[in-house]
Amino acid sequence: MPTLFTRIINGEIPGDIVYQNDHVVAFRDIAPQAPVHIVLVTREETPGLDALPASGDHQHLLDAVAKVAAVVGLTSYRVVINTGEDAGQTVRHLHAHILGGRDLGPVVGS
Ligand code: 5GP
Repeated sequence: MPTLFTRIINGEIPGDIVYQNDHVVAFRDIAPQAPVHIVLVTREETPGLDALPASGDHQHLLDAVAKVAAVVGLTSYRVVINTGEDAGQTVRHLHAHILGGRDLGPVVGS
């Protein structure tokens, strides 16, 4: 069963895609936590940072962050990768949140 994010990548579920390459796809979060909130996801269905294969699309995730930020006009941003249930990971398909567009405050406690 494909993950929710694979279904967005494949166009089965609508998604506001802002950037894509051979390894990653970025789209706007449906429930933004900041004025700009992008989900950057690997094309491969890697479950999370706690289950990385030896090689794969995850190796290209960080490379894409600044490109995605530039596309959506962010010069200052926060990157969050929730890993595991207690950390708030709801979709077991590796993804980074790129948040910006306001003063985000300190990372701890926010
Ligand atoms: P997580 O909680 O796993 O770190 O992040 C999952 C994110 O996916 C959440 O921020 C949630 O708002 C977003 N999300 C859930 N369903 C959809 C959807 O159908 N479309 C989009 N664009 N984002 C979604």
